[in-house]
Amino acid sequence: MACLPGWAHRCAAILAALVLTLAGLTLVEGARAEVLVVVTTPDLKSITEAVSGGAVRVETLVQPGADAEAFVPRPSHVALIRDAALVVRIGLGYDEWLDQLLRQTGDARPVREGRILDLSTDIALLEVQSRSIEARSGHAHGAANPHYWLDPANAEAMSARIAEAVGRVVPEMQNTITAAQVRFSTDLTRRLKGWIATLGPFQGAAIVAYHNSWPYFARRFRLNIVDLIEPKEGVAPSPARLASLAGRMRASRARAILHEPFEPLGPSRYLAERTGARVVVLASSVGSVPEVTDYLALFDVNVDRLAKALAEAQ
Ligand SMILES: [Zn+2]
Repeated sequence: MACLPGWAHRCAAILAALVLTLAGLTLVEGARAEVLVVVTTPDLKSITEAVSGGAVRVETLVQPGADAEAFVPRPSHVALIRDAALVVRIGLGYDEWLDQLLRQTGDARPVREGRILDLSTDIALLEVQSRSIEARSGHAHGAANPHYWLDPANAEAMSARIAEAVGRVVPEMQNTITAAQVRFSTDLTRRLKGWIATLGPFQGAAIVAYHNSWPYFARRFRLNIVDLIEPKEGVAPSPARLASLAGRMRASRARAILHEPFEPLGPSRYLAERTGARVVVLASSVGSVPEVTDYLALFDVNVDRLAKALAEAQ
């Protein structure tokens, strides 16, 4: 800054004010980034980060690559929720351990202010049942099938609700959030057309899955899941079940076995050997396989792998 003679002290004052203003802006930016949103899964983390445009810090309880069914909350998770301005969950029993964590946080902010966003309430659910969630190993498929994020079209409603909730937490960042949500939605719509086109030639293809994770995915891409390897969520198949399943797969000309990385490979391999169907390892969440680094990549990878396997099995 050039200063005229005699104005040096004024220049110094202006400079000092400028420095203070910049420092203040930095503090405000830092404070924004420290507004914490806690989500239960890596998929929700990816969507929340995409639609919040850096306006908040997002932490997931289940880490990428971990099995949400086997999640065991730790004391550090209670502290995270206590600090959160917003908690976002899948619901339907998939992340039922969150209820216990919320109880342990007592009078914490998200609980006190009702800032818990259950995204399942806005989704057209599949396999809706009247039975209540029972005590069991593994996650529930009690009220309905909880794997609704595996239909990418459902991310339209999910991302809109997350953006709305994040906007309530940091209203001064509304423009940033709105712009980020539009970007995400535009990208999603464009890529969804590509995914539908890639799997288009395989409409009606008969497939089986180890776990019942894929009804939403199958409905979107018009695939026909003819059977499941697990007799019940979290229950391993018996040899008798596998033998009869191999027969049913041959009868229905099933061409692919959808397999998640943390599931036991033996039963899927056994069925592939006896039926000629391909084992396709798909990511059921962000981080399940290394290439799936965000929510949209989840479908880039899964659609590509499945289309290749179905083409080879023809
Ligand atoms: Zn499940």
